[in-house]
Amino acid sequence: MALTVHQFPCLADNYGFLARDEASGRVATIDTPDANAILAELARLGWSLDLILNTHWHPDHAGGNEALKAATGASIVGPAEVTRIAPLDRAVVGGDEVMLGETRFQVIDTGGHTLGHIAYHDAEDAIAFVGDTLFALGCGRLFEGTAEQMWDSLSRLTALPDATTLYCAHEYTASNARFALSVDDDPGLKARAEAIFAARERGESTVPTVLATEKATNPFLRAPLLRPAAASPAQAFAEIRAAKDGFKG
Ligand code: ZN
Ligand code: FE
Repeated sequence: MALTVHQFPCLADNYGFLARDEASGRVATIDTPDANAILAELARLGWSLDLILNTHWHPDHAGGNEALKAATGASIVGPAEVTRIAPLDRAVVGGDEVMLGETRFQVIDTGGHTLGHIAYHDAEDAIAFVGDTLFALGCGRLFEGTAEQMWDSLSRLTALPDATTLYCAHEYTASNARFALSVDDDPGLKARAEAIFAARERGESTVPTVLATEKATNPFLRAPLLRPAAASPAQAFAEIRAAKDGFKG
């Protein structure tokens, strides 16, 4: 594999991701939840940071930008909205490409959690960094966008190849599983939820996930099947999202 991904816990329930292009040795961090934690991992691995790739402006994703740039000289790429909290070296939108050495990331517009949220897709390695758009058995809250916008964003992700590995930014999977079981009695979901609860008991990560697994069991992606009377797929998604927002699990 041309891209090596190193994942580690950050803050309360975020994950940090360092990605190294093996051909060139160039290294990117996907988001900057905690500058000190990221610097410590870089030192432990003996890697030096070239690039910061932001998915959206939230402080648990871009809050470490300035400290990391000051410490490493890395350049910062992200959606324009990141300038709300820190300067960017390059603003990108869906359809743009970002190179890390020989690894090519396609930028996908995944607005909805925030208006400018983006994902980074490395097609050759079948890897996508999806930030707070799609979680294992969940999806991001709609802080800024509409249900329609989020459904379109999720549809762009589900159009990727089924074998795509999805790196989501939070370990929310056990609580997502409790909600999923409340709206869907699919046997595949039940089996997956049991495996998730057991993994979390053992202190194991449930990230990354795989797109095929999410398409089969994630209630947000299955919304049109779970709410067949809804006027549209986006409306079905809106109903599931609203149920999750009110869920006391
Ligand atoms: Zn966020
Ligand atoms: Fe977040």
